[in-house]
Amino acid sequence: MNIARISENVAGIRQRIAAAAQRVGRSAEDVTLVAVTKYVDVGAVQALFDAGCSVLGESRPQQLWHKAEMLDDLNISWHLIGHLQRNKVQRTVPLLSFLQSVDSIRLMEAANSEAARLDRVLSILLEVNISGDQAKHGFAPEDLASVLNAVPNYPNIEVRGLMTMASLRGDRDHARKDFSKLRQLRDELRSSCPAEATLNELSMGMSRDYDLAVMEGATMVRVGSALFEGIDS
Ligand SMILES: *Cc1c(COP(=O)(O)O)cnc(C)c1O
Repeated sequence: MNIARISENVAGIRQRIAAAAQRVGRSAEDVTLVAVTKYVDVGAVQALFDAGCSVLGESRPQQLWHKAEMLDDLNISWHLIGHLQRNKVQRTVPLLSFLQSVDSIRLMEAANSEAARLDRVLSILLEVNISGDQAKHGFAPEDLASVLNAVPNYPNIEVRGLMTMASLRGDRDHARKDFSKLRQLRDELRSSCPAEATLNELSMGMSRDYDLAVMEGATMVRVGSALFEGIDS
């Protein structure tokens, strides 16, 4: 694994995040780079960690289990960013610092029960299907207010914000509009939702558009392929 090249890529991405933040008067420190590891094996994850990435995102639970267990001596914050079936909650939640992809009340309930069993509070994001694509997971925007009203029933989860994937069909301009919509939705919900839901986090933006997401208020960008450019693994 070419650590020098990964380090270069990470530095380039961090610079681009900082430049985008600066353009809109934000601080780069307010944006967390979630390095997405779904394309690579454990060796490459170790290289990413050595290059300074300790907040990692995985989309498939089984991959997360495997990587988290192989690298359990490293101080990694694992985020699950893909669909979680309820029968995998028990094995997944203990490994997570963030569950970004909550897309049903039943999953919220299951995550809450598991967090209660572990005697901890789990940070979650509600995934929103902002583009309305049929194939996408996530709550419909119009359902979120009632979902948030249920949050006080689940004391072992903290709803920290919203997560979305921009439509894959559109171009960068289109993605930017999706990001702007998510931020507006968050702003509207924040004024009326229960105090238990803080909604400070917006997880949006991937390799092709994370700079635009930062300009639209992202606090977490989920970047995968751009980390591994120029590396054959
Ligand atoms: C794969 C994935 C990413 C990263 O995508 P890249 O285009 O490779 O940066 C981000 N978010 C989710 C939910 C993903 O599944």
